[in-house]
Amino acid sequence: MTARRGIAILGGTFDPVHNGHIACAEALYDALAVEQVLLIPSAQPPHRNEPHASAVERLAMLQLAVASHPHLSADDRELRREGKSFTVDTLTELLAEHPGVPIYFALGQDAFDKLHEWHRWSALSDYAHLVVLARPGYDDHIPAELDPWASPRLVGEPRCLASCTHGRIAFARVASVDVSATEIRAGCSVGKLPRSAIPDVVCDYIEANHLYS
Ligand code: ATP
Repeated sequence: MTARRGIAILGGTFDPVHNGHIACAEALYDALAVEQVLLIPSAQPPHRNEPHASAVERLAMLQLAVASHPHLSADDRELRREGKSFTVDTLTELLAEHPGVPIYFALGQDAFDKLHEWHRWSALSDYAHLVVLARPGYDDHIPAELDPWASPRLVGEPRCLASCTHGRIAFARVASVDVSATEIRAGCSVGKLPRSAIPDVVCDYIEANHLYS
């Protein structure tokens, strides 16, 4: 059996974490044969409105959600940094901590569609591979704004990325779950917490802390 190597990262707002995030993280662990998948909540998301739950609450929900998943970890580094949570800064830190092994930054197709709006987006491939996750409702594609940068970096499947540490892009056709945090918050706001879309421990936390109502 080939040894597991490298780490995968799923960043996001996680407002709240849901079964789509956990399914993607587990699928990355299998598809990439990494040692660990880090879920990294954005403390101050630069590209969207202020989250509804605080960064501390969003991290707490993630910690509860991953507690029963030995290969997944909640990483609090963006809460410990000052200022806006830029992904390029997080990847810079991770590369320094894990020299010589592949680093995979995963993001859903919806996020990839807007990647060109991110701070220093074209530098992300200097620190990590990008793995684009299929998401229900979104077609797999390279957005026009990214094409000159992304097309030459594209490889056929995620396993092909392991031969180098960073710099390439792959689409991962993981079995994704059709759920979004937006839908969950909308349900909560009308008193309908969609329990089947969220880990039980996270549902309990949302109810105990009166989030999103
Ligand atoms: P919101 O509805 O508030 O935008 P979200 O459900 O998209 O939230 P995020 O925390 O923004 O959740 O997502 C973090 C990362 O996970 C993003 O890259 C996003 O594209 C990806 N992602 C979230 N949900 C899914 C899903 N169901 N399938 C595939 N990727 C997902």
